[in-house]
Amino acid sequence: MGTIGGALCAADPRYDMLPLISGTGARLEVLAPSGVRTLAPEEFFVADGGTSLQPHEILAAIRFPAASVFTRVVFEKFRQRTFDAALASVLCAVRTDAGRLADIRIAVGAVHPVPVLASEVAAELNGSVAAEVDPAAAAARVAASVLGDDGGTPLVQYQRELVRALAGRALSAALSDGRS
Ligand SMILES: Cc1cc2nc3c(=O)[nH]c(=O)nc-3n(C[C@H](O)[C@H](O)[C@H](O)COP(=O)(O)OP(=O)(O)OC[C@H]3O[C@@H](n4cnc5c(N)ncnc54)[C@H](O)[C@@H]3O)c2cc1C
Repeated sequence: MGTIGGALCAADPRYDMLPLISGTGARLEVLAPSGVRTLAPEEFFVADGGTSLQPHEILAAIRFPAASVFTRVVFEKFRQRTFDAALASVLCAVRTDAGRLADIRIAVGAVHPVPVLASEVAAELNGSVAAEVDPAAAAARVAASVLGDDGGTPLVQYQRELVRALAGRALSAALSDGRS
């Protein structure tokens, strides 16, 4: 039986737990002989792939935000066959307050060596009336922000379309609480 910690320490960007950790802003407690250090996901995952774990360190705990921090957390992924790893994945975590987006985080997995936050798109959406957000338009901006506007290898072009579709689904589902 696999563990969340094992999936994170393997740090394969196609694994589901990586965007979950990044997208929710969980904290990772790393136990070393000298004590515990607590890392944000972007400190745990190394830009070119892998982790910042040092010899003799283990991942001892993963602290997720309290359930009340987000109204909804939605994960979408695409894989060609059920036993394949994801070709692209998107996690969208939102908190709505009186119909407005009080917080939104969007993490994209499997298309880079580490999960990538669509921070600029999230910043643009923050404060919006949830019912007025166009998920398709926002999803196109998410895809462009992590994979560029156009061009690239056929795989990148394919993944850009996947991210756009997955982000659209995730945003629609995540924002549905705020819709009438
Ligand atoms: C049949 C199958 C189906 C799968 N399906 C999915 C899927 O649908 N979605 C998905 O995301 N992934 C899937 N996976 C991948 C799975 O997430 C990884 O194999 C994951 O590594 C399993 O966790 P584990 O605890 O077995 O880790 P291990 O394989 O035991 O460990 C991975 C690496 O991390 C190290 N390690 C483990 N725990 C720690 C720790 N606490 N601290 C420091 N180092 C540690 C190990 O030494 C090893 O180097 C699947 C795997 C299999 C075999």
